[in-house]
Amino acid sequence: MKLDFSNKKVLIRVDFNVPLNDKFRITDDTRIRAALPTIRKILKGGGAVILMSHLGRPQKKRKADGSIDVKKFTLKHLVDHLSKKLKLEVKFCPETIGEKATAMASKLKKGQVLLLENTRFNAGESKGDEQLAKGMAALADLYVNDAFGTAHRAHASTTTVAKFFKPEHKSFGLLMAKEIKNASKLLNDPPRPLTAIIGGAKVSDKILLLEKLLDFANQIIIGGGMAYTFILAKGGKPGNSLVEEDRVALAAKLLDKAKKNKVKIFLPKDSIIADAFDANANTDTAYSMRIRKGWMGLDVGPKAQEEFAQAIAKSGSILWNGPMGVFEMEPFSHGTKAIATAVAAATEAGAFSLVGGGDSVAAVNQMKLARKMSYVSTGGGAMLEFLEGKVLTGVAALSE
Ligand code: AMP
Repeated sequence: MKLDFSNKKVLIRVDFNVPLNDKFRITDDTRIRAALPTIRKILKGGGAVILMSHLGRPQKKRKADGSIDVKKFTLKHLVDHLSKKLKLEVKFCPETIGEKATAMASKLKKGQVLLLENTRFNAGESKGDEQLAKGMAALADLYVNDAFGTAHRAHASTTTVAKFFKPEHKSFGLLMAKEIKNASKLLNDPPRPLTAIIGGAKVSDKILLLEKLLDFANQIIIGGGMAYTFILAKGGKPGNSLVEEDRVALAAKLLDKAKKNKVKIFLPKDSIIADAFDANANTDTAYSMRIRKGWMGLDVGPKAQEEFAQAIAKSGSILWNGPMGVFEMEPFSHGTKAIATAVAAATEAGAFSLVGGGDSVAAVNQMKLARKMSYVSTGGGAMLEFLEGKVLTGVAALSE
């Protein structure tokens, strides 16, 4: 952020897509806290700050009469918390662009902060609408994008808006810089061996990442629901576990490529199995290659946890994306906990660890281990795409 903010109005796209409870109280303010350094730096530099963000999916979750559920998705819910964090009174505008937004932005003085209404209240936001973006750009002199979580989306507020600022009038924020620096550390010459831990529900969501990892990781630990498609590809019998039949051939191909590239693949030797997808189901431990009919693997078992932990302990760098089991249900959370603990210990011993991807981040937060990781990303999909080697559209737009 080498811009001169003095006496400038600075439009910052932040990612304030925070979880709220049914009383509209913030239950996890990680994303707000992550954006504070950029906001503070601009205020300190003599700028006035105009913040914009999305919150939830108001277009998809319209009310029965077809209207936007303003009460649920308004960014007004964030004003008090943000004011407390910044120790100043944040002003709120009930629209993203329009007469009111223009008037409030033009009256804004240096040192002041204005929060605009949810960008996704505008149907044009996710379409990257030019008119909407032009309206946003007209509110400020400079544009800063610090919303790493949405940097992979070509939306009006994340990408199109940047078109209306000259290269010397736009920049990425401190959070975005930090995310890219840490992810790049893994992509470019990471301390070896590099271990990738990939979990979560489906193989299909992680194909590109797995393919890419086969080119640069030394070992890949595969857990979660996606492991059972690999078990099937190896001729195992995963019972009623989550399996993507149409990805079995691909899983076999990935295993072949791993052999060719000398990448060691770890699949869970054993699993915690259950007779229903339910926290109160009957449970047992079984070899993952031989799960009985009617039962499903919902977590990695004790032997797998031990083997995975040993591999993690020997790593120079670690990438973790996706939980090892259905960690939301206590009986199936132990595998994910064991991995989180192992990654924390390896980090303490000097390894570089990056946790990227929504659910693994939720897991380390839940286990209060986030501070023990080298870096915990705020962006799920964006981090995944960056690690897959894609150029993030929101980042590219800042230099065009
Ligand atoms: P993802 O968004 O792809 O990282 O997937 C996360 C989801 O995968 C979580 O909600 C987990 O409950 C789910 N998951 C993890 N392991 C399993 C499993 N063995 N069977 C079914 N779902 C799983």
